[in-house]
Amino acid sequence: MSADRFVIPPPPQAAIAVAGSDQVFPVRRIWCVGRNYVEHIREMGQDERLPPFYFAKPADAIVADGGIVPYPSLTKDMHHEVELVVALKSGGRNIPVARALDCVWGYGVGIDLTRRDLQIASRKLERPWEIGKAFDHSAPCGALKPASQAGHPSKGRVVLKCNGTVRQDGDLEQMIWNVPEIISNLSEMVALEAGDIIMTGTPSGVAAVVAGDKLECEIEGVGTLTVTIGQPLK
Ligand code: MN
Repeated sequence: MSADRFVIPPPPQAAIAVAGSDQVFPVRRIWCVGRNYVEHIREMGQDERLPPFYFAKPADAIVADGGIVPYPSLTKDMHHEVELVVALKSGGRNIPVARALDCVWGYGVGIDLTRRDLQIASRKLERPWEIGKAFDHSAPCGALKPASQAGHPSKGRVVLKCNGTVRQDGDLEQMIWNVPEIISNLSEMVALEAGDIIMTGTPSGVAAVVAGDKLECEIEGVGTLTVTIGQPLK
């Protein structure tokens, strides 16, 4: 479509940096797995036998590595959830598990920031999760590493430190559903496309942050992500 047909300027394209490059990965949708590590399901008091489920965040919720996340409104309990991010170069519907990794462009480290008090309030009222999960600046994401260089990680330590203290310390091999299974399962529910990213669930150790906290994340073989929690926006 020619640009002069838009009645307002089109919004900017959300994107994530690519490690060791000045190129960026354009983001279409952000999908998140709600439940994928047994220890985290236990700490949230949920039934670990249930299959994982999905929710979404808006693409413009991405915060770049080194960025500042303003402490969001309405919450007194924002939690960090460090997660492996999978970035897709192609998609489709009903993708077989055996072909799912062909869709992957690369991997990164993300944080599924969560207004836990609002998420739990929504859950109790059987209302949607957007206000707890899909708020502004809720998806920090570090530089992506292409699978063509780094391969497809199925194990590797996942660590989040807050002000230098380890809070989350898991391993990708603890995922209940692995990356091909997630891609295949999600593609039965919605069509996946190039530009989609998937946050694949968090290990245990989720906890609250306050303004001034520095979060440093690393996934072995994948990359790093550092963000600082800032003052609330006026
Ligand atoms: Mn999560």
